[in-house]
Amino acid sequence: MNFLPYSRQDINDSDIAAVITALKGDVITGGHYVSDFENALCAYSGAKHAVVMNSATSALHCAYLALGLGAGDELLTTPITFAATANAALMCGADVRWADVSPESGNIDVASIKECISPRTKIITPVDLGGNPVDMEAICELAHAKGIKVVDDASHALGSSFADGRKIGSALLADNKNGADATIMSFHAIKPITTIEGGAVLTNDDEIARKCKLLRSHGISKTELWDSDMSMLGFNYRLSDVACALGLCQLARLDEFVKIRGEIASVYDEFFASCKWAKNVKIPSGITSSRHLYIVLLGDNLAKNKAQIFSELHSQNIGVQVHYKPTYSFDFYRQKYGDISLPNAELFYAKELSLPCQQKMSAKDAELVLEKLCEIVEKYL
Ligand SMILES: *Cc1c(COP(=O)(O)O)cnc(C)c1O
Repeated sequence: MNFLPYSRQDINDSDIAAVITALKGDVITGGHYVSDFENALCAYSGAKHAVVMNSATSALHCAYLALGLGAGDELLTTPITFAATANAALMCGADVRWADVSPESGNIDVASIKECISPRTKIITPVDLGGNPVDMEAICELAHAKGIKVVDDASHALGSSFADGRKIGSALLADNKNGADATIMSFHAIKPITTIEGGAVLTNDDEIARKCKLLRSHGISKTELWDSDMSMLGFNYRLSDVACALGLCQLARLDEFVKIRGEIASVYDEFFASCKWAKNVKIPSGITSSRHLYIVLLGDNLAKNKAQIFSELHSQNIGVQVHYKPTYSFDFYRQKYGDISLPNAELFYAKELSLPCQQKMSAKDAELVLEKLCEIVEKYL
């Protein structure tokens, strides 16, 4: 069996043709592909605005700045995420605080959010882990009642939808209540779709979109054909037309990707429904997950031997991965904030294993993964 990474890109001939066409164009950055891709993201997600950037990290940074995050403020987030979710808050001069997660899903725990909100909390950033949507209704109700903004780090979740069919990023909850103030997408190579590197801010708020557009391009806007003004300090976070041409093509293939990953996931689901030594993260009925990650939680004995199990799986070409080391436990953050330990996050990290789940796999591959996994864990039960 070829090496099966836990996630990977799927680039076909239509993607390559789209890239070549864009590359041969007169304008290869700052042209119409950028707004075409943004419009397609709006049409797909239901968001009013999409502002694409060169990464989700840039998108987080701009969204946080657009919402006014700065020195003296706190951003409250989950430790079970990629470092960038918290890092971008430090880039704004703010502090980070972590709420604990649900032991079943690894998503931020609403009761823990309640305990961690302080007078300095400016933004709450939940993460839809693996593509499984957080309880956005509960989080927004809690946050907005206190004037706190919500940025959904949906880097895993393009293609996911809530039980009523609304897509992640639509920014509205049931009954047209406001959802997240901004939603972040990542188009890194192995995320739900790719522009190689790339990301986006989705929002229904005109002012957030306006500020994000300024921030991604030096804070400069054209006032007349021959004149421009710089109204704030910005960055060069732009995404090229060539990348956006790829993004357009990938977005058209997204539903197919989600369908195939769903089929792989259902092979795993059937097995873990009756498995004695591990359980999977259950996706609530009605909800569609992008299935960016297929997350398994190992039983206690196996969790103790995860390092050996991990390397034995890799030596059998099964590219499992662990998501995530709690952000607060990185050396950098321990130097900054001292030793922090949240019990559910620690347990989740100890037990978590992400199985290969990507659109270049077949159901047969998934069965082989399960076979090898059973063979290997046998010794450690
Ligand atoms: C990948 C990822 C990011 C960063 O994405 P980039 O596009 O690589 O900057 C941020 N948050 C989460 C949850 C991610 O998985």
